[in-house]
Amino acid sequence: MPLIEPNRSPLLLETQIQSNTTHPPYWLQVALDVPLEGVFDYRSDVPVMRGLRVIVPFGRRQLIGVVVACPDQPSLPPESIKPIERVLDDLPPLTPAWLDMAKFASDYYQRPLGEVMLPVMPARLRSVAAYTRAQSGDGPVAKQLAKQLAQLAKINKKTTVDAKHDIAPEQRTEDNRKNHLTAFQLIQSTKPILQLNTAQQAAVDTLTATDDYQTCLLFGVTGSGKTEVYLAAAAKVLESGRRVLFLVPEINLTPQFAASLQARLAPYVKPDQIALMHSGLTDTQRQASWVRAAMGDAHIVLGTRMAIFAPLSNLGLIVVDEEHDPSYKQQEGLRYSARDLAVWRGRQDQATVVLGSATPSLESWAQTQRGFYKRLDLPERAHQTLMPNIRLIDTRRADLKQGLTPQVIDAMTQTLEQKQQVLVFLNRRGYAPVLHCPSCGWLSQCKNCSVFAVLHRDQPYKMRLHCHHCGQQTQVPKACPECGDQDLQAMGRGTQRLEEHLTEIFPQARLARIDADSTRTKGSAQALFEQVHAGLVDILVGTQMVSKGHDFARLGLVVVLNPDSMLFSQDFRAPERLFAQLMQVAGRAGRHQGQGQVLVQTGYPEQPVYRALCQHDYPGFAQSTLEERRTAQLPPYVYQALLTAQARELNTAIDFLQHGRDVAQAWLDTQPAPEHITLFDPVPLRVTRVAQVCRAQLLVESPSRAALHQLLRAWLPALGTRHAKGQLRWQLEVDPLEI
Ligand SMILES: [Zn+2]
Ligand SMILES: [Zn+2]
Repeated sequence: MPLIEPNRSPLLLETQIQSNTTHPPYWLQVALDVPLEGVFDYRSDVPVMRGLRVIVPFGRRQLIGVVVACPDQPSLPPESIKPIERVLDDLPPLTPAWLDMAKFASDYYQRPLGEVMLPVMPARLRSVAAYTRAQSGDGPVAKQLAKQLAQLAKINKKTTVDAKHDIAPEQRTEDNRKNHLTAFQLIQSTKPILQLNTAQQAAVDTLTATDDYQTCLLFGVTGSGKTEVYLAAAAKVLESGRRVLFLVPEINLTPQFAASLQARLAPYVKPDQIALMHSGLTDTQRQASWVRAAMGDAHIVLGTRMAIFAPLSNLGLIVVDEEHDPSYKQQEGLRYSARDLAVWRGRQDQATVVLGSATPSLESWAQTQRGFYKRLDLPERAHQTLMPNIRLIDTRRADLKQGLTPQVIDAMTQTLEQKQQVLVFLNRRGYAPVLHCPSCGWLSQCKNCSVFAVLHRDQPYKMRLHCHHCGQQTQVPKACPECGDQDLQAMGRGTQRLEEHLTEIFPQARLARIDADSTRTKGSAQALFEQVHAGLVDILVGTQMVSKGHDFARLGLVVVLNPDSMLFSQDFRAPERLFAQLMQVAGRAGRHQGQGQVLVQTGYPEQPVYRALCQHDYPGFAQSTLEERRTAQLPPYVYQALLTAQARELNTAIDFLQHGRDVAQAWLDTQPAPEHITLFDPVPLRVTRVAQVCRAQLLVESPSRAALHQLLRAWLPALGTRHAKGQLRWQLEVDPLEI
């Protein structure tokens, strides 16, 4: 492919002004998505601006990379440096602020720069094949862009609540029942709150008091109207001409939020100035959102964790809703925390960052105590309803019927008689967690993993075994593979079996189940939630999918089944997570009328986490838990990094980690005054084998973040490539959430 001719693109002209060198060749450093440290030298006959994408030869391939520097001199002998093949000027260059954020993420999470920058872009902007296709198919880039924008307008039209009619156009054409649902939904999403209460107003005042950087923790009990605060603050920021970035934890929440944003912020932002970014979008949609953000056409970007990398300029406000939610942490590739990057980005862009939660992460809570974040409290529910009444039901001496205590069955009966809805929360999908043989004790172990395959029932008489770790599905054996006994039994209870039992106990009730299985097809989750909102469901059975954000107006009773398994996890964060989850699911009850009831069935009612839950006492829970963490020297009082190795044989992984530990120790021994760093012994993961691969980990920690990062910088290059020798792979996670 020939070099691009010096063309008349305004972008390239601008670069000529900025370049230090006046004569070709121009030296470029390019970040590429390859698992190698550092950036790569190329040369160009035209000056290229930092932040532009280029096509370069790499080995026998062509790759798209990002120009991160234009040095006067190359770092390699000039004759060994290859020329770039093409400058892509279909987008404005990534801004210096964006490049700085990527550099920070690269340094902090110990990942090569190119592996940070490129994977966060939509696939079509980083694939040579896609670029070439677009070129040959549709002519000039400008045309292509125009087409994208036209497509985008269509998408927006489709997903936009029409401000004039207050009803989404696509939904208007549906049948009567659907219309009814839509109208109901809109009551939910566009209901104006005429006046903020005192606490809400105070929070908005603080959030909008400065044009400079600040991070605020909005601590509001469930139903306290945090969203109203976000919207009022966003309105003010938009009015001043700055942009807003909204992060939500779940894809399912974005339609709800988008509708609210469009309806409530209508005076400040046009529907096509709101861009969505989440993994539920098609490539075309994601690309369109990215383009609009980069072009400055998007005034609000709303999305899940990936949206933290939106190429927005002139940011005034970053909202991280439900900031404690683990989904803000990416669990593969670049293992970043979108919440933590939001705080960094806010400081960089001199924006206000607001982290909202009813159960903040202990990390954020500790930051308010240290004075780094401002704490804003919303202590009351916005609709002046009472906090739900939470009671523990001791299962130890109870006479259980299909896993339900008589108290729970009575309370459900009463609630249904009052024409209110019941939510039964069981965080375990499938029919039963394991199949077993009572004669010989055989259990349905997955062949590939060190876990049990879960029994699933898809249709009334059709069962299968499904491993939730490797995904393998097998038929249920007709007889025990060990002893031949034909009387195999399901042990325990998942949501499918619970649904079956509830149908037996409450034959008149209309049931719906919301979990990963019942919502597999696109749009099905939305449809199920609409049924619940429309009052077409009496009993809703659900996993954690139902606990987040959804506002059920007719919900009178929440029943929580079997939460104890999380209590005895080896992970020190388990009680924190359990508290947050139960508080959230309990908060679904009685948000609009009366006092909601919550019943928690447990075999351990004396546990402190349950006591705090009954008293709605997050600050007390946080205080005692932080005290324990301080005593035990756990985060947020120490900083951690986790090295994980995977191999066919467990010993290979352990040996690699042991070698890594020795290397780190040797480096520490060379330090004149080593700060305190603890290197733990390599251990297998709790679920050691997944898909025939064994996993082990090595934890490193230090009370000094700087010391930990100094070690990581010296250490990782000595470990070799991440796909080293044969089958071994390793990766490093900074600030791991699960250990
Ligand atoms: Zn058997
Ligand atoms: Zn498996």
